[in-house]
Amino acid sequence: MEIPVLKAEHFEVKARPDLGAKRVTLLVSGTLDESIKLRAVSTYLFNSQGDFGELVVDLAGLAGISSAGVREWISFLALVGEAGLRLSFSSLSEIFLERANLFPDLLGRPRATVSVVAAPYYCAKCDDRRTFELRVAELRFAGPEPVLPSHSCAQCGGALEFDEIASDYFKLFRSL
Ligand SMILES: [Zn+2]
Repeated sequence: MEIPVLKAEHFEVKARPDLGAKRVTLLVSGTLDESIKLRAVSTYLFNSQGDFGELVVDLAGLAGISSAGVREWISFLALVGEAGLRLSFSSLSEIFLERANLFPDLLGRPRATVSVVAAPYYCAKCDDRRTFELRVAELRFAGPEPVLPSHSCAQCGGALEFDEIASDYFKLFRSL
């Protein structure tokens, strides 16, 4: 069951409650900018019948976040923390992780666990960029450098290169 919690032209939040487990998953998609207020989401979380103890956030569909959006999201997570909900992230988009590298509070304070992040790869020969899912628990480091899984290009079969500066992109997970 998915409940529409917030719907704007370019931004949407749906809730997938699991009342038995007292857990709710929020599916966030689109662009979080200055026109979006997350009050509807906190109202749903704190006033609903669910009596939730756990919040899981899926940000795989987050396509953009402005500076106002960063502030709004951090305020929202502060409310979640005050309410004592256990927070985790099931998935992060590339845009969100890049922003979180600049503003780590986007992942909660103390930082919540993250299961999966988007990992962009590139084939120079085909000029093709693809995003793969990467499980944070499987991420290994050799010093500051993450040891990333290899992927081949779907068109030419050649090896894809990671399309960001890997040591920066994954820096939040280095100490885990
Ligand atoms: Zn290729």
